[in-house]
Amino acid sequence: MDISTACIHAGYKAGNGEPRALPIYQSTTYHYDSTDTVAGLFDLTVDGHMYSRISNPTCAFVEEKIAALEGGVGALLTTSGQAANLVAIMNVAGAGDHIVSSATIYGGTVNLFNVTMKRFGIDCTFVDPRASKEELLAAVRPNTKAFFGETVANPALNVLDIEVFATAAHEAGVPLIVDNTFPTPVMCRPFEWGADVVTHSTTKYIDGHALTVGGVIVDSGKFDWTVTDANGTPRFPGLCTPDESYHGLTYTDAFGEQAYITKARVQLIRDLGVYPQATTAFILNESLETLPIRMQRHCQTAQRVAEHLEAHPKVKSVSFPGLASSADHDLACKYLPQGSCGVISVVVDGGRERAAAFLDHLKLASIEVHVADSRTCVLHPASSTHRQLTDEQLVACGVEPGLIRLSCGLESADDIIADLDQALAAI
Ligand SMILES: *Cc1c(COP(=O)(O)O)cnc(C)c1O
Repeated sequence: MDISTACIHAGYKAGNGEPRALPIYQSTTYHYDSTDTVAGLFDLTVDGHMYSRISNPTCAFVEEKIAALEGGVGALLTTSGQAANLVAIMNVAGAGDHIVSSATIYGGTVNLFNVTMKRFGIDCTFVDPRASKEELLAAVRPNTKAFFGETVANPALNVLDIEVFATAAHEAGVPLIVDNTFPTPVMCRPFEWGADVVTHSTTKYIDGHALTVGGVIVDSGKFDWTVTDANGTPRFPGLCTPDESYHGLTYTDAFGEQAYITKARVQLIRDLGVYPQATTAFILNESLETLPIRMQRHCQTAQRVAEHLEAHPKVKSVSFPGLASSADHDLACKYLPQGSCGVISVVVDGGRERAAAFLDHLKLASIEVHVADSRTCVLHPASSTHRQLTDEQLVACGVEPGLIRLSCGLESADDIIADLDQALAAI
């Protein structure tokens, strides 16, 4: 099935006389005919829903659809992209463990890895996304449990060399977790390049209409969680030894290739309480139906806008993987041949004040702390998310004072370009 067809038909299938559209099962709880059924549910020997903090039919249909789109064996929705990355890591690492992450990732994830997870006792080494396999392996410690990176980084827009990261992770005996938020499965499917687990902030293109905050974890089913260290001790005891919170059940024995995603749900989502509402899943399902057409349009428009801005005399530089001038153009051609995303980084000539003035003259594009929306939006980090920093400090963390993040929406490319041109003419 082509991905455009799967976006519409994977997941919910209407039976005879049943609703054509995915129903919203707005219920916290479920009814059973016998105590035996309930006992089976709690033992995880009977399939079904137990309580909407752990699963819900509307959410389950959307999970099935997203798993099909990524080519995975199972998926788990979460209340945010942050929760997806937190649970994806916690499912393999605990206090005393360590992960290796690409340095150019979303700021919220940097904080999670650098501050909050460190307080839980999980350490992180940040590496250059262009590191070689040898350099990546040099960051590995005996307690390393995962590698992490973003297919197209937010906001750096560099492209991850997924094959190099996957090869290094597998030589180290650990999984590669890839945050695939910006390309979505329409533009890149990291499992095809060796990734083991994929995460998304569904808040971005999967929703795509700025309606719901959410996340998802997808399991490829390919990683062997029974791997042992040189001395024979299991590297992932949480997955391949008995779980006391399930009377000694062992996930790899009971669930085979779905061990990782099942443990994430019945143990971590159960205990952390970060499962979304049925209505959120319903909205995502609606948005997923149009994802391929929307992604194609976002990417085509961003390509035109990036080429136009690159040739504009008042623009100092443009960063977009689809540009031939991009340092990651080779990786974009390999991993993202149909396009990457609709987000572009633009540096306006003249620094902080000129960039702010440019934003204030825009009429169609609106100033927002958001990306990947149907409406074109812009943000100037130096006057918003990074405003406490001096120009020198900004440059040190890779953000030029004149840098603008531009997220191309679904409006006509001509109208977006006309708006950018009139604002550039006014400064
Ligand atoms: C936005 C974003 C997140 C965080 O997602 P939320 O849904 O805002 O919690 C994680 N990763 C990437 C790449 C993002 O763009």
